[in-house]
Amino acid sequence: MALAISMTASQPTIPRYYDALDFPSLWKEFPPVPEFHESVARMPVADLRALQERRFLEQMERAWQIPFYQRHWGQAGLKPCHVKGLADLASIPPFSVHDLRDALARNPPWGDFMGIDPERDAPIPLVLQTSGGTTGLPRPMLYSPRDREVMNIITGRRLYMQGVRPYDLVQVMLSLGLSNGGFLAREGIWKYTGAVPVMTGTGAQTPTRRQIEIMQAWKTTQLAAFPAYLRHIGHVLRDEMGIDPRSLGIKGLIVHLGMDDRAELEALWGAPVYDTYGTNECGSLAADCVERSGMHIFEDAFVLEIADPDTLAPVADGERGVVLQTTLFKHFAPLVRFNSNDISSMAPGTCACGSTHRRLACIYGRADNMVKLRGTNVFPEAVGALVGEHPRANGEYLCVVEQDPATGRDEMTVRVEAERPAADGPALRAELAARFKEALGVKLAVEVVAAGMLDPLTGLSSASKVRRLIDNRPKEAK
Ligand SMILES: [Zn+2]
Repeated sequence: MALAISMTASQPTIPRYYDALDFPSLWKEFPPVPEFHESVARMPVADLRALQERRFLEQMERAWQIPFYQRHWGQAGLKPCHVKGLADLASIPPFSVHDLRDALARNPPWGDFMGIDPERDAPIPLVLQTSGGTTGLPRPMLYSPRDREVMNIITGRRLYMQGVRPYDLVQVMLSLGLSNGGFLAREGIWKYTGAVPVMTGTGAQTPTRRQIEIMQAWKTTQLAAFPAYLRHIGHVLRDEMGIDPRSLGIKGLIVHLGMDDRAELEALWGAPVYDTYGTNECGSLAADCVERSGMHIFEDAFVLEIADPDTLAPVADGERGVVLQTTLFKHFAPLVRFNSNDISSMAPGTCACGSTHRRLACIYGRADNMVKLRGTNVFPEAVGALVGEHPRANGEYLCVVEQDPATGRDEMTVRVEAERPAADGPALRAELAARFKEALGVKLAVEVVAAGMLDPLTGLSSASKVRRLIDNRPKEAK
């Protein structure tokens, strides 16, 4: 009877995901693999630019409907008639995460950049994920069915480019909470590669020893994780369990490599490392192909520019700068010249794989993590790359910046881990300090601690993002 009573009440409209999209049409617009490889990936450059032009103008039309852009562009005096194509891109004022935070504070809880009002608009099925967020409340992002599906298609493309094939088992050791990385990997693997996602999550979700047992028992074929965690698991296997990680037969390591040591990880696991560039707003933007000579940008879905970190003016090809992101497919929260603060450069030449899509060299670091010490820009990621090269350090590190109360100067101390800190500490300290001075051009202090000591501070085995910088300077000095 209870059922009969509830059925007579006014019926809510339940939006169904599979009714929300015309999948075959979407796959023509944004081909999944393997079709992608024979079509869009090899498109003549002129055709690719024409496709970008068309999608860019559609994206601008959509963005002009959204209060955030009306306000941001209106304040700069920009009018719709000013932008006739990609040639006018540089005239559009960029925005950053500070503008997004401001919009969230102004219009909680979703901000006014989504272009949707869940209380007023007709219901559609939504996905909610967030930024990794190391401090404060993470930034939420809502995805429409189409936006999410394009991101899934692209995730499938990049994993296929990195060797994932049907019936492979991809062990995803990324956070399975609010942050986007883990769930997006699952959707992309499951829907568009034919492989099977094995969602063990971070070390906080599945302890390292259990991760290893699963790897061995089910014979997982690829590992998706942060490089630091892959190094940690490799060391546990080798040093604590007496097992050579290479004996596990892993076919590929799928990571956000940044400045981490590719050769060291590849030697440890006996498997190629594939670099990827992704964010919670966009999903995967660029990824290594099998050649591993720079990350192909998915140019049918994004326009990426490299700009001077201070002036935001475009830099010459090959020069380093911040990545400005423009999306070509998003209905919710489209991005037009979003300053990601990620430092990269365009890789020169063409790739042997035959793809015509341009490549990012790598992500060198984050502009907002950059510390200016006596006129020299220091990136924690660059420090980490040097720590990773030293045979007696285990690769873990944390940079701490403080103001010396006596001199008023900013000083950075790099804490590194060693397996035998008492025996190796003094030499390691001296050698690393000399190496920093030589490679970075600035003097850094070095502190050596025992293996595992930095974990609670960096969040290596528990957080979705590993913390590499603690800035203890008084606010006005930063
Ligand atoms: Zn390639």
